[in-house]
Amino acid sequence: LVEKAANFIRNIVTEDLKNGKHKSIVTRFPPEPNGYLHIGHAKSICLNFGLARDFGGRCHLRFDDTNPAKEDIEYEDSIKENVKWLGFDWGEHMYYASNYFEKFYQYALVLIEKGLAYVDSSSADEIRSMRGTLNEPGKESPYRSRSVAENLDLFARMRAGEFEDGSQVLRLKIDMTSPNINLRDPVIYRIKKVDHHRTGDAWCIYPMYDYAHCISDAIEGITHSICTLEFEDHRPLYDWVLDQLPVPCHPQQIEFARLNLNYTVMSKRKLLELVQEKLVDGWDDPRMPTLVGIRRRGFTPESIRAFCETIGVGKSDSLIDMSILEDAVREDLNVRAPRAMSVLRPLKVVIEGYPEGENEEFEAANHPNNPEMGTRMVPFSGTVYIERDDFQEEPVKGFFRMAPGKEVRLRYAYIVKCESVVKDENGEIIEVRCSYDPASRGGSAPDGRKIKGTIHWVSAHHAVDAEVRLYDRLFRTPNPGGKNEPDYRTSLNPKSIEVLKGCKLEPSLATATIEDRFQFERLGYFCPDMKDSRPEALVFNRTATLRDSWSE
Ligand code: ATP
Ligand code: MG
Ligand code: MG
Repeated sequence: LVEKAANFIRNIVTEDLKNGKHKSIVTRFPPEPNGYLHIGHAKSICLNFGLARDFGGRCHLRFDDTNPAKEDIEYEDSIKENVKWLGFDWGEHMYYASNYFEKFYQYALVLIEKGLAYVDSSSADEIRSMRGTLNEPGKESPYRSRSVAENLDLFARMRAGEFEDGSQVLRLKIDMTSPNINLRDPVIYRIKKVDHHRTGDAWCIYPMYDYAHCISDAIEGITHSICTLEFEDHRPLYDWVLDQLPVPCHPQQIEFARLNLNYTVMSKRKLLELVQEKLVDGWDDPRMPTLVGIRRRGFTPESIRAFCETIGVGKSDSLIDMSILEDAVREDLNVRAPRAMSVLRPLKVVIEGYPEGENEEFEAANHPNNPEMGTRMVPFSGTVYIERDDFQEEPVKGFFRMAPGKEVRLRYAYIVKCESVVKDENGEIIEVRCSYDPASRGGSAPDGRKIKGTIHWVSAHHAVDAEVRLYDRLFRTPNPGGKNEPDYRTSLNPKSIEVLKGCKLEPSLATATIEDRFQFERLGYFCPDMKDSRPEALVFNRTATLRDSWSE
């Protein structure tokens, strides 16, 4: 279990429970079902569900589905699955803001009756130009002084569908000269004659976020409404709305710094463009920062939770290095992933003198430091595959792997010595021929002679074929589309995927299934691809290399 670091939100909660402000806490994770969740959302999920778990409260999953145009059930399903996958459970507490449409409406009537809301018949452009700027106060709308009766009538007719989209809005009557622009009579309802994916055509007016969110929180009895820093300036509005209304409670809005990660993009718009423009292979492309992508890449929920714990929760925006996320998965998989031998770029090695038809097996530890993970038998034969990289015909200085006349250890098996090479008509080496030391069975020489190099191998006779996909960062630059970059797309990394066919895996991997993860010795962490791998046509993804190998 990851140690729970103190943070300012935990301190607020601890204090609120200690001084009796709350008996127990209620948080919520409120995604808008208009896209797939990404690693930034994971930070919010871990924070909200983590607080509920650690302080014995509860966390609601609330679909913030008040904007009908871009929302879809496909997104909802994926969001639920992602939250569960991350290891959290909302139990009975799943809610839809759209279920509160009637309540939002009734509360709007209360505001109108109190003279705190009015129907504005100005156009969107007029409203914008009257809003003013940071240095210049706004101007009051000519419709601001409409009577309560007139406002009630117009608002009812807005609901009844009598007006065109954009022709009327409902605004709060706060203060057009407020230094906080959010308080300059914000629009809280607009007409949108669009079907909603849950309420169909029941409504043609829809509430705005700042109005709907605080009321949703209050209806659900949320104690701590945690959101990202951009909403700090909206807090006075959050509090203003709740102060005017007979709501059951007044949650406390608390802002924290959103997660920003380098070498990727996280805006929903950009992620959608990447998918629609086929710059990636769908939302779950293993290079995407989406949770479906990260999962398909082979990340564990534990590693993501540990990552969120590591980066902490703060009050100022920062850019987190991608390598911290990668380290989190390495650290987790190093402990839990069984080892296996696989050859990605095979070079055939024939072991001369090895008895024909001999069926030897070597016992190999599944984990070097954890005997409880057991062992497996790895079959050997007179022809094995090694990595092309592990052979050099003219070895450079310091190269201790396979080279003519040099001894090298085949892990767990024998010490072999390269005697000759076979080349094709282009001079390319297609086969290496070795002798072997039968007395070195298991890998060490009885005479105690030192063998510097040890390489992995797979028996040609027993190997299973697989496609292996190697991934690198999706973008070449830390801040895609940032300074001196015309567009984030121009910073895509052309080498972010490499597909290797005809890789040779040790036979124990033939039965690997979804969510199995392995360390291929010397190569990194790998998992079967959830979408494309079949028992008769294995496809593996590299989740991460063994060490940080990124170079710009
Ligand atoms: P949009 O892209 O439409 O602005 P959003 O990023 O706010 O949407 P939501 O679905 O509204 O996405 O997000 C749900 C919750 O996740 C919100 O409470 C939001 O604060 C949080 N969240 C979103 N992005 C991040 C991030 N990068 N870091 C931390 N929390 C985030
Ligand atoms: Mg949002
Ligand atoms: Mg966003």
